[in-house]
Amino acid sequence: MKAEEIYSEDAAHYLPVFARYKIILDHGEGPYVYDIRGEKYLDYLGGIAVNVLGHNYPALVQAISQQAAKMIHCSNLYYTEAQATAAAKLSEISGMDRVFFGNSGAEANEGAIKLARKYAHISDPDKSLIIAANHSFHGRTLATLTATGQPKYHEGFGPLPEGFTHVDYNDIKQLEEKMDEKTCAVILEAIQGEGGVHVPDEDYLQKVRALCDKYNALLIFDEIQCGMGRTGTFFAYQQFGVKADIVTLAKGLAGGVPIGAFMTSNKIAAAFHAGDHGTTFGGNPLACAAANVVLDAISHDGLMENVKKVGAYLTDQLKMLQSKYPALIKEVRGRGLMIGMEITKPGRDIVDDCLKEGMIINCTAGNVLRFVPPLIITNRHVDELIPVLDEVFAKY
Ligand SMILES: *Cc1c(COP(=O)(O)O)cnc(C)c1O
Repeated sequence: MKAEEIYSEDAAHYLPVFARYKIILDHGEGPYVYDIRGEKYLDYLGGIAVNVLGHNYPALVQAISQQAAKMIHCSNLYYTEAQATAAAKLSEISGMDRVFFGNSGAEANEGAIKLARKYAHISDPDKSLIIAANHSFHGRTLATLTATGQPKYHEGFGPLPEGFTHVDYNDIKQLEEKMDEKTCAVILEAIQGEGGVHVPDEDYLQKVRALCDKYNALLIFDEIQCGMGRTGTFFAYQQFGVKADIVTLAKGLAGGVPIGAFMTSNKIAAAFHAGDHGTTFGGNPLACAAANVVLDAISHDGLMENVKKVGAYLTDQLKMLQSKYPALIKEVRGRGLMIGMEITKPGRDIVDDCLKEGMIINCTAGNVLRFVPPLIITNRHVDELIPVLDEVFAKY
């Protein structure tokens, strides 16, 4: 199909829920993607923190192809080697006993919320309150959008499920005031992504943990964006010396094949019995075969060392631009290869200008340029980005 036909078919038939950029992507190689005209782009978005191994990663393509030829799907009524292996790998990496696989981040959080409610209700049927943070993002299902602390995602979808409330992220006083024996769980991103790349104070998550222990509430870490090695440790929470009761993953877990997961201890998992939760597709052998490659690559191929090294270099270079354009750039923050650059004007035009120069970046929360590239990028790719940003910033 020609470009104009693709645009017009989309305009006529696709649900218009995305404010899309006008390029039609066709294929990718490493950290680069190519559009249907053959134009090349360096991909600093990585499918929104999904393509952790970049595009066309040989071991991933091979595992998916081989698994597709054997069997794509077979229902969770049966066992598969790929799923058992993926569950074992995730247990080993996380130190958690049990894993459940769904198809997306929202489903992972939905399952985590259901588990927390069921667990709390064993001791007290009124122990239902889920506390989440303002500027968080947890998904688009009714429960997860209610947990999401951004009113713009709630408008028009009421009545929303009951038993959710919000506090400011990184404000332990507010949490302390809201919490009591009726608190079922606190759900937080260890580093907020969609809300604008917010890193909490060094001791915030530890204090949250202490409050959860005090009120016998579960702590859920949504590591859907900040997990999978993105910040230089497998999970972002590891950098704050805290453990959660339930951890959720999705985005990068299978390198682009849809998957989500929540993990927990045997004690909490015991609240669920056969029939309490389920999924048709979740954790099918195709997705799990992909996850197994990604989990091995992150654990064994020196990828997290690379994230730390290249992340530090990228941060330095972005800070160099900040000192060059102090009126435009307010702050550079993040960890590893999850970096936000807060600017003093809306970011959409800058993203557009970068795209014209062959650079895919993203803007979240209106004015935070976000860099969540494949974890395989090197300093050389940073050196490709910086002059483009420099040139674009010079115009503003
Ligand atoms: C993307 C994201 C989700 C939702 O994931 P989907 O796969 O889009 O449902 C949830 N939490 C966080 C932190 C995310 O970044």
